Amino acid sequence: MSPDGPGVFPGRADPPPPSIRPVARAVLGTAGAISGLSRRTGFGSGSVIGGQFAVLVHRKLLHQLTTGRNVALISGTNGKTTTNHYLARALATRGPVATNADGANMDAGMVVALGVEPTATNASLECDELWLPQILRQVGEAVVVLMNLSRDQLDRTQEVRAIASLWREALATSPTRAVVANADDPLVTWAASGALDGPGARAVTWVGTGSWWTLDATGCPACGGRIRFGEPQGWSCSSCGFARPPCDLWLDGDTLHTSSGEDIPLPLALPGRANRANAAMATAAAGWFGIGAETSVSALASVDDIAGRYRTETVNGQPVRLLLAKNPAGWQEALEMVDDSDTPAVVSINARIADGRDPSWLWDVPFERLAGRFVVASGERRHDLAVRLGYAGVEHACANSLAEAVATVQQRRGNTADLVIDVIGNYTAVQDHIAEVDQ
Ligand SMILES: [Zn+2]
Repeated sequence: MSPDGPGVFPGRADPPPPSIRPVARAVLGTAGAISGLSRRTGFGSGSVIGGQFAVLVHRKLLHQLTTGRNVALISGTNGKTTTNHYLARALATRGPVATNADGANMDAGMVVALGVEPTATNASLECDELWLPQILRQVGEAVVVLMNLSRDQLDRTQEVRAIASLWREALATSPTRAVVANADDPLVTWAASGALDGPGARAVTWVGTGSWWTLDATGCPACGGRIRFGEPQGWSCSSCGFARPPCDLWLDGDTLHTSSGEDIPLPLALPGRANRANAAMATAAAGWFGIGAETSVSALASVDDIAGRYRTETVNGQPVRLLLAKNPAGWQEALEMVDDSDTPAVVSINARIADGRDPSWLWDVPFERLAGRFVVASGERRHDLAVRLGYAGVEHACANSLAEAVATVQQRRGNTADLVIDVIGNYTAVQDHIAEVDQ
């Protein structure tokens, strides 16, 4: 179903600014003081610890802070932070937006984001995939944007089918307003269909994103049969009738098509087809807020920095571009972004709690795509990475830091003045690089 006209918030397109109750205001004030203390003592950015205090002492705070607002919740394994930035930029064409742009995507981060924008009627919130069911129960009416599901943080997130089941059940039983779903991911399609099965039968906007990653959905989530990919219609189960639904918006190269006949070019500042998919999802979601596709695309196209990712910095006098890839599907997309180059690259891997302690996923990443390029392995697990690169036939060296990695490239290549070196890292590895650059 395609959102025409004012979308699902027709009478609420511009509701009066939400009023925050006195108790909630007091809790947020104390949380702000805790955050400030945390920042001043160098404990961290402080936003999460203040939010954690707030949700601990006021269990209904998230519900109160979202009541009366038009809320979008964006969840999935990859692309949710970028899609959140995109959607927030589109919603900003209508006024102030509350958004957890920093990626703090559990209840604590959400209440902080909502608390600092008390008069914003629209909210765009990234949501951790495991947290989505309980966040839905607290937020209630929302536009739910489901990106994709793939293996990630092997020691933390459960098997992706279990998450798809949790989503499906949550959507079937919660008072969601509408769902925007990636029709090229069978697990997401199956989960989103839960919204159609539930009481009230909510609307689903299907988006054809052209996802590449298929390894986590070869078994049909409906019957256990085999999913066939690469068919003219996208994919279908070989045993039951489960298949890719007809799409309301779909990507074809650099163009976004809509079922109402629009063909909209996507001149995005961010690289790669993964970001075109993110833009398509954000545009579909903005439709439910009454914002036309062309308006959304022209607003989000200029987004060029996602919490430090994608930005170009200078290290040892050398321009470097930072790219984030957290899991095999994300790595596949990131490697595609740098595919058209033969310049040396830096690849960084850590295995801390935020990354997942188990780095065996390195063997699911097609590092063979880097063959023919000189690669410097960095990060705390650079030696695991070096073994993987060796098996992939990629010439490589190891380095202790971003500066050392860049110096290694410079020594090896000689004249690098005209190069921008791509630095691809997983979550905390990129954070380390940003900290090193900001020193
Ligand atoms: Zn089936």
